[in-house]
Formats: sequence, structure tokens, C-alpha cells
Amino acid sequence: MERIQNYIDGRLAAPVSGTYLDNVNPATGAVYSLIPDSDAADVEAAVGAAARAFPVWSLSSPAERFRIMNRIADLIEADLEAFALAETIDTGKPLSVSRSVDIPRAVANFRFFATAAMQFGSEAHPMAGQAINYTLRQPIGTVGCISPWNLPLYLFTWKIAPALATGNCIVSKPSEVTPMTAYLLAKVCIAAGLPAGVLNIVHGLGPKAGQAIVAHPGIKAISFTGGTNTGRHIAATTAPLFKKLSLELGGKNPNLVFADCDFDQALTGAVRAGFSNNGQICLCGSRLYVQRPIYEKFRDALVHRVAALKVGDPLAADTDLGALVSKPHFEKVLGYVALAREEGGRILCGGEPVQVPGAGGWFLSPAVIENLGADCRTVREEIFGPVLTLQPFDTEEEALELANGTEYGLAATVWTQDVSRAHRVAERLQNGIVWVNCWMLRDLRTPFGGVKNSGVGREGGWEAMRFFTEAKNVCVNWG
Ligand code: NDP
Repeated sequence: MERIQNYIDGRLAAPVSGTYLDNVNPATGAVYSLIPDSDAADVEAAVGAAARAFPVWSLSSPAERFRIMNRIADLIEADLEAFALAETIDTGKPLSVSRSVDIPRAVANFRFFATAAMQFGSEAHPMAGQAINYTLRQPIGTVGCISPWNLPLYLFTWKIAPALATGNCIVSKPSEVTPMTAYLLAKVCIAAGLPAGVLNIVHGLGPKAGQAIVAHPGIKAISFTGGTNTGRHIAATTAPLFKKLSLELGGKNPNLVFADCDFDQALTGAVRAGFSNNGQICLCGSRLYVQRPIYEKFRDALVHRVAALKVGDPLAADTDLGALVSKPHFEKVLGYVALAREEGGRILCGGEPVQVPGAGGWFLSPAVIENLGADCRTVREEIFGPVLTLQPFDTEEEALELANGTEYGLAATVWTQDVSRAHRVAERLQNGIVWVNCWMLRDLRTPFGGVKNSGVGREGGWEAMRFFTEAKNVCVNWG
């Protein structure tokens, strides 16, 4: 059975302890590879390698970083099929999605930030006749990047690429649940000639390997994407160490459908927003609110569409929804369906385990649930699965109250043909991202992230380049 290796100091390496964890294919339930059960000793080796690499990498020219990062992108692209298959086997998502979305987006992340390295500069603030100030944006040193399982390579590279582009060295940990694409990336980095120690990938468990990264005094900044509770713990660990921190956390995103919307566009958008990647995207619109004049028509059309989604083998071309990522996650989502029933929810479709012929893994039919009040846990807590709650509203004011009524503030979507309403509602929504008449349309230059308990800091474009640099102002007096 294949043993995934850590990537430390430019080489693939076994964990210091010599112990491994099972890597399970969620579509079959079978162990298909082993991953290093790394600990503080592996993190220590990675931090040492990063510190040694920093003096040269931090002074390398933007053109050199651009060249190597583009080479990494080229090599992923050349092996796209292998990356896509690895991601599908790790996550249970349809191969068509890995192939068309996740892996191309990882390539785009490298290309985008390679170019950003060439464009990023310092600012100058002249004081007339007296002095000039200039702001140097310098790499921080060794930074930690920790990512989740839902879009493994896409989110891993979203952090790594800007950190590399700005001249930092990295100690990273992908999710233990989905390690394979990061392992393939390590091989690509070696082939692309990335200098030893610039990127280190330590596999293993969050509370062990992840915690060792977060707590290490030699790591000066942490960029974390994951759950809100883990984010809270990381914030508590890093605060006394005065580390720079970016947290991209959970969401429970509202999707507001006004009666004046383009019905078909909103319907298609609501199904995509609710069930893409089995609802396992932080941006999924998992709370759907529909204005009363079209509520019943919309609900019936929605249920018809959702019930027709094909749950099946992730490798089959006609599969819409594959397996959920793991057994514990499957059980968590099923637990929320049971809770919804207890809370008085009416299950309009789905919410049942599905037996996929030839596959023994964790498949669930997509659920639409109505008749749940705003205080229900099913409506307030992040489920991160194929479960959509549906509720009517009367006025714009009520829609805003419902939308803003959770601890989360990541993304929101608004469907309306009234341009004034679109701007008015967008302005009052308490979310870091608002989509109007679209969902998941992403321009990598824009700030990305949530407010409230969905995170602090912003990723994307110059926000990420600034996060991974320290600003130093130099004031030169010529008077
Ligand atoms: P977790 O918070 O469980 O894990 C995220 C990462 O952190 C994993 O690599 C995990 O390792 C690691 N980790 C866990 N505990 C610690 C610790 N004490 N110290 C350091 N690292 C630790 O999230 P999930 O992987 O379950 O991902 C799903 C969550 O991510 C959802 O809440 C989702 O909303 C959120 N998310 C947010 C996004 C955003 O941009 N805002 C985007 C995508 C997802 P291990 O896997 O081994 O536990």
C-alpha cells in the first residue's frame, strides 16, 4: 500500500516516529494509502529547513519566483488527470468536478500569485520639500499554512501561492482526511526546482502536527482555513505569541430569493449553491429564504430538481453528488437530519443513506427541509452537508433580519431584478461576500473572507500579498 511522505528540506521523508495513519476512500470505505502521523519532531525539522532557506528565497527576484511558480503550475496542468483522480479518491467528489474546478483552480492560484509577485511594489509618500517616506513590504519569515479537506488542493494552494510569491518560507499541513494531492504537489515542487526548505509539507493530525505548527515560536504568521471552533483554539494559542493571523472559518450562508427575480436563474442558482460538492463548501447557500408570492411554486420546483440529482459513484460521468468525505462526517450530517425532525422540520426530499452499487462508502440523498424557525439549531449551525433549509419571508426587512440572524457572516446571495434593492440589501447584509444573481463567481483579485464568527483577515489578491508581508516605513529627511 502506498505510503505518503512528508516533504521537508526538499526531500520526501518518513515521519520521525515511523508511524502512519489510514487514508480512507470515502466512496468505498476502504483504506487505500497510509499517511504520516507526524508530530512536533517533524515540525521542528520543517521549521529548521525553512529558516535555512529563507535568506536566499526572501532575496530571490520576483522574476525567479514567477518562473518557478509558473513551472509548478505547468507541471500540475500536465498531470491534471492524476491530480483529479487523487482528489476524487480522497474526497468522494465527482471526478468531473475535480477535473473541471478544483485542480484547474489550483493551477490558477499559482499563476495568479506568480504574476502578483511581478506586480507587487512599495508605496512612497513624499513630504514636499522635506522628506520622503517609503513603505517596504518585506517577507515575514517562516509562515504556517493549514487547510481543510473540502477543496484540498484548491485551498492549500490559495495560501501557499501568495506566501511563496512574497518570499516567505512555509511549514504547511493539509487536512489529514485528504492528503494525496498535497503529496503529489510535493513531487511537482521537487521537479520544478523549488529550492529545498522553501515549502515544507507535514502530514498528520490537527491536534498534533497542526498544533505543533501553530504553537511553534519560529513560525511568525498563521493562515488557517477550517472550522470556527478550531479557529477559536488557534486564535487563543497564537495571541500570546503575537503571531499574525488570518482565519477563514465556517459559514451558514443565506440565499435570498425575491419575488421579482428571474425564476429559472434563481432556481438553478439555489440548487448549485445548496448542493455543489455535497454542500461541503464554506460558501454554500444552506439557508434558502423565498419571498411569499412565489414560495410554493419555487419550493415545488426546487424539490423536483433536487430529488433528480444523481447520487452515485464519483468516477461515473453522470454523477452529480458523490460520497461525503468520511464516516464521522456522514454521521454528523445524518444527526442533523434527525435533529431537524425533532425540531419540527418537514423533510421534503432526501436525508437518507443511499446504497451505491459496488461502493460501500458514505452516500446521502440531498435534503430540503421546511417549517423550521429561525431559532432552530438546524438553521443556525453549520452542517456542511447536502441539507438545505427553506423558509418564506414577506418583506425586505424580514429577509435581512433572517439573513443576519446567525453568528456567521461569510457569504450571502440575493436574487432580484430590482437594481436598487440589490444594492440596498447588499449594503445591509452582514457578510464578507455578497453575490447578486450569481453564486461562487470569483475574481481572484477581490478580497475574500468572512465577518462575525466566519473569520478575521482577508485572503485574495493584494490582501493576501499584504498579509504575508510586514510593512516597514522608511522616512528619509532631505531638509
Ligand atoms: P477543521 O477545523 O477540523 O480542520 C481544518 C484544518 O485544521 C485541518 O488540516 C485540521 O487537521 C487542522 N486542525 C485541527 N485542529 C487543529 C489544531 N488544534 N491546530 C492546528 N490545526 C488543526 O475543519 P475541516 O477540515 O473539518 O473543514 C471544514 C470547515 O472548514 C468548515 O467549517 C468550513 O466552513 C470551513 N471552511 C472555511 C472556508 C473559508 O474560506 N472560510 C473554506 C473551506 C472550509 P485534521 O484534518 O487532521 O483535523
